[in-house]
Amino acid sequence: IRVTFTPIHRREFGLSGTIAVLQDVTEQEKLEASRREFVANVSHELRTPLTTIKSYTEALEDGALEDPELGPRFASVIQNQTDRMIRLVTDLLHLSRLDSKEALLRKQSTGVLEMLEEVVDRFSFQMQEKEIHPEIFIEDGVDTAWMDRDQIDQVLDNLISNAMKYTPEGGKITFEARRVDDGMIAISVKDNGIGIPKRNLDRIFERFYRVDKARARNMGGTGLGLSIAREIVRAHGGAITLDSELGEGTTVTFTLPTQEQGGEGK
Ligand code: ADP
Repeated sequence: IRVTFTPIHRREFGLSGTIAVLQDVTEQEKLEASRREFVANVSHELRTPLTTIKSYTEALEDGALEDPELGPRFASVIQNQTDRMIRLVTDLLHLSRLDSKEALLRKQSTGVLEMLEEVVDRFSFQMQEKEIHPEIFIEDGVDTAWMDRDQIDQVLDNLISNAMKYTPEGGKITFEARRVDDGMIAISVKDNGIGIPKRNLDRIFERFYRVDKARARNMGGTGLGLSIAREIVRAHGGAITLDSELGEGTTVTFTLPTQEQGGEGK
């Protein structure tokens, strides 16, 4: 709360006193602080690959280019870092479109089982490589949901790639769809991987928040996957939650309406 005192003197009326204005600035300040933090994070995330690219380019110029072994190796580091920056900027653009409500959602009635089967197919190669076994459970009565399929595919892709990253070889990823109250269905992606410590759960959907920064970066993540998933789910009128037990695994659940909702102007 910000308090401003303004002294007043009205000699002619024999009045004197103070006006105190109490202003609740906590929300505003929190918003400002998180905006500053976001800009600092973006700058840092872009700067890290840029410095790497710069030093590897210098090394190439200083002779590594002629070296038959070092040359290609350094070039591939540069390529990886560039890919990482492209991923980051793509994610940031996606988030900013969702933030500004510019992302027009093209929602339609979509079969849930078919969608989950296709997402598993998309990842089947990677899953086989890691010997991860997918399973799909659909509760009786779950049929279609009202969604922009491309956007929900993005949510599922983000959740599966996390599940894959943080689940050791031979693990299991389970997809489940069930009915919940009020004409909604819940879809969950569950893994039996490394899990997340309880103390980190509060902030897990924040932009750039990672449990283990170094490890997450090496895995190629941007730290924006869950924030994007949350924005997309909210734009559908649903909610997303994450449950995790350290060393046991993680379950992310999101809800979607089964029918077009009233008042939806799209
Ligand atoms: P990232 O691009 O780093 O994966 P996310 O926003 O998708 O960013 O996830 C944020 C962090 O949450 C990750 O860095 C990781 O620490 C943790 N996390 C997300 N999903 C899982 C999971 N299935 N198992 C364990 N940790 C997870």
